[in-house]
Amino acid sequence: MNRVYLLFGGNIGDVPVTFKKARELVEKKAGKICRVSPLYRTEPWGMESNNFFYNQAVGLDTDYSAETLLEKLQDIETHFGRKRVAGKMTSRTLDIDILFFNDEVIDTPRLQVPHPRMHSRRFTLLPLNDIAPGLKHPSKNKTVSQLLEECDDPLGVFPMNDDEQTES
Ligand code: AMP
Repeated sequence: MNRVYLLFGGNIGDVPVTFKKARELVEKKAGKICRVSPLYRTEPWGMESNNFFYNQAVGLDTDYSAETLLEKLQDIETHFGRKRVAGKMTSRTLDIDILFFNDEVIDTPRLQVPHPRMHSRRFTLLPLNDIAPGLKHPSKNKTVSQLLEECDDPLGVFPMNDDEQTES
């Protein structure tokens, strides 16, 4: 069994509903979800778009290898209408990143784990800190909460309030 942490992101359509349906599909196709963070609203990062992003961290137990899991997650992104534009950060219905896969360090052309930009993004660290604050980054040798404390990402990340959370 592998313990994995994912980050969901999206800024097109009814994203909280998409996340809920995507979690159901992840459970059906990839493994057992053991933790779900609150939803956050995030300023768009590294792209020209007025649409705020939503982000949510998810803990997953899976028997699949990291490469097979990536394929399954990409199928789920495609199911929700995700279109890839090579080398470009674009608006999207659903993006699923693998943040951690056990305490493994993976560096292949298709997959880098831990996700190479996770430690510098507040929109990743805040939700992940809600579900796994003591988790250690295997190459930075720091916990998620330490990385969050040190993070100087200036972009705003706002927790959604309780009545909005019930939608998710
Ligand atoms: P994006 O457009 O940001 O979703 O990036 C998707 C691409 O990143 C895919 O081609 C993946 O093969 C690659 N990738 C590399 N590392 C990861 C990771 N840790 N999680 C998800 N995708 C990854």
